[in-house]
Amino acid sequence: AHVARLSIQLCAYGDGQKLMLTRDVTAVEQAEAMRRDFVANVSHEIRTPLTVVAGFIETLQTLTLDPQEKSRYLALMAQQAQRMQRVVEGLLALSRLEASPPPGIAEWVPVAALLERCEQEARALQALIAPGQTLRFSQFNRPEDVGDIAGVPAELHSALANLVGNAIRYTPGDGSVDVQWAWQPDGSAVFSVRDTGPGIDAEHLPRITERFYRVDRSRSRDTGGTGLGLAIVKHVAQRHGAQLLIESVAGKGSTFRIAFPAFRLRRRQAQL
Ligand code: ADP
Repeated sequence: AHVARLSIQLCAYGDGQKLMLTRDVTAVEQAEAMRRDFVANVSHEIRTPLTVVAGFIETLQTLTLDPQEKSRYLALMAQQAQRMQRVVEGLLALSRLEASPPPGIAEWVPVAALLERCEQEARALQALIAPGQTLRFSQFNRPEDVGDIAGVPAELHSALANLVGNAIRYTPGDGSVDVQWAWQPDGSAVFSVRDTGPGIDAEHLPRITERFYRVDRSRSRDTGGTGLGLAIVKHVAQRHGAQLLIESVAGKGSTFRIAFPAFRLRRRQAQL
């Protein structure tokens, strides 16, 4: 048995009648509800593409299709299989993040290398899905900007890449995305991604980093989203003692920032 934490609410009606409402809001119950939601979400995310694939297999088995049609079906099946793969990979990434202890400060990752890789990947993605977009990366490799972050390279890369990828995916073809790394006077630093995309309504902001939470499901799906990206970013940030900050104005755009604390950073003289 557990001790229940009760919230008590007293309602008084006009005719003098009173009603006392008690509600059990124990953490145990909340955790259980979250687990149930999560399992339901995962099942849904996998079942949808699975149903499509199963349907196509049946079609291929029962109908004689011409080669062109057949390859169209196979391409659609491959697309759905990739979707399932992305969901599973995202979930595995999250559970790895949860299972491993926070990284120490043993490994130093060069900021410039992280950002360079991010930029290369961003330009490739952008050329593919939004060639008209303006993509700017701040000059992070200026001599005075050289430095390192203590952490796990793959995790840090996935956090930065996720934010940049989202900005490119959600911003229209004629919009712009600005990526910056800014050292602060106190030795901390802020990585920021600003876009001129659709923005996120205030009502959605508090939930945006929850697993599988999306503002626009079909838009997310059309651009290969799983709804797990920001959950991963938040986890990685937390594990590195950093904070994920989101500012957004609906219809104007969003700015996502990761603020790294000074104790996880070091600046050094560039080797010129
Ligand atoms: P997804 O795979 O759906 O992009 P994320 O966890 O990365 O999942 O993001 C969750 C949701 O947050 C997205 O579905 C989208 O609605 C919203 N979102 C994320 N980044 C942006 C952005 N830069 N501009 C507008 N909306 C965004």
